[in-house]
Amino acid sequence: GNRDDGVLRTERERGCMRGHPGNRSRGFSIMGLDFKYVLAVALLLGVGYFAGSARMTAHSQPVNSDAVTEAIQREVRAQLTEAVQGLQEGGKKVYPKVAHLPASKRMRILVTGGAGFVGSHLVDRLMYQGHDVIVADNLFTGARKNVQHWIGHPHFTLIVHDVTEPLLLEVDRIFHLACPASPPHYQYNPIKTIKTSTVGTINMLGLAKRLRARILFTSTSEVYGDPKEHPQKESYHGNVNPIGPRACYDEGKRVAETMMYAYQAQGNVDVRVARIFNTFGPRMNPYDGRVVSNFIIQALQGKDITVYGDGKATRSFQYVDDLVEGLLKLMDSDYDQPCNLGNPDEYTIKEFAELVVQETESNSTIVYRPKTTDDPQQRKPDITVARKNIGWKPEVSVKEGLRNTIKYFAKELKEVGEITPTGPGQFASVSKAASQA
Ligand code: NAD
Repeated sequence: GNRDDGVLRTERERGCMRGHPGNRSRGFSIMGLDFKYVLAVALLLGVGYFAGSARMTAHSQPVNSDAVTEAIQREVRAQLTEAVQGLQEGGKKVYPKVAHLPASKRMRILVTGGAGFVGSHLVDRLMYQGHDVIVADNLFTGARKNVQHWIGHPHFTLIVHDVTEPLLLEVDRIFHLACPASPPHYQYNPIKTIKTSTVGTINMLGLAKRLRARILFTSTSEVYGDPKEHPQKESYHGNVNPIGPRACYDEGKRVAETMMYAYQAQGNVDVRVARIFNTFGPRMNPYDGRVVSNFIIQALQGKDITVYGDGKATRSFQYVDDLVEGLLKLMDSDYDQPCNLGNPDEYTIKEFAELVVQETESNSTIVYRPKTTDDPQQRKPDITVARKNIGWKPEVSVKEGLRNTIKYFAKELKEVGEITPTGPGQFASVSKAASQA
């Protein structure tokens, strides 16, 4: 009758239970410090796990054998490092410290897309606060390693699940983030992206309705399309091309917002809608083809920094910690209308590229390539609604956020060797994304 057991089984079947304290202490007590045994087990787990990932992506595209070898090596290295750390810590996994909440305040919270970039930071905060967190993620663009530090924690459950399929759970709150967020990934399979935003959101709204659970949906500044109003207020209805290459994402998010308010009006569901502007930080998927990650990855490797267009288009970049704070505040507030979350500090893409070069102390050259279709020229949030209604404004400067993100990608590059970021019009390799999972 224990629900948690039931859901964890999905993971165990996928060979993902290596972090479970029960498993670990049993394993270590038998083998003592026999390192060869650890190596053999880690190798087996690595191969087994990768075989699972490869099976998962086999339908999407052929996997090249070099990539397979590389991914196996990476996985084995990660598992060995963890095993050695485990031995050093006396066979016990050490978790980040979480608060102790009284039962009356402790909630069970579902985070869809919780293994992704934003989701994993949100999961960290909810865990630190002392809640029970369930992540449902299909690991398309997310990665198990983003939540690896919680796997096995008694407050944490990872379910490998696609939100386009119904999910029956008992939770108090739902943060619904699941959806690929970057053009190369959401354009990889546009029909799937539309299904994720529509069928996925209907499924989560159905769950929220049955449970009378509050649900927060992560919408996007893309609902404003190529805006005619500047900066963008929530009252602006947008300028979206319904049949352009970005439509699967933009229109998917727009109709998902429509569904949120239809369920509110007709089904009495307690909804929150965040319209998120460009966000960056550690754990961004390096193959997302986003401006910030591409520039940093290129600069750190001394490669040309590619700017699409003349570099005069502007963007506002918010650091992920600010966004997560905004999502938590919005969820806790009584404000139920769409709410922009973004940093109004505006940079031209050219200025931003120069800042990245400066902060990475790189000798890369900035090169210009033709502009991409429907790429909005100006984006800047008006955050008056967030300031007034949820008492939120960004606190982290772009420079400070950039420094943390650079540190993260420098470490990633050290682990994986070379990264060739995805450019516009290219589809990110799903096998690459999955091999990190
Ligand atoms: P991400 O790609 O890192 O995370 C999305 C997560 O959802 C991934 O873990 C992915 O595996 C998962 N996912 C995708 N499709 C799924 C499906 N069908 N079922 C289950 N899981 C699925 O992206 P992110 O930047 O963390 O974005 C999170 C949310 O925030 C998204 O809804 C995105 O649209 C929104 N958003 C992000 C930004 C930004 O700048 N990062 C801007 C606007 C909106």
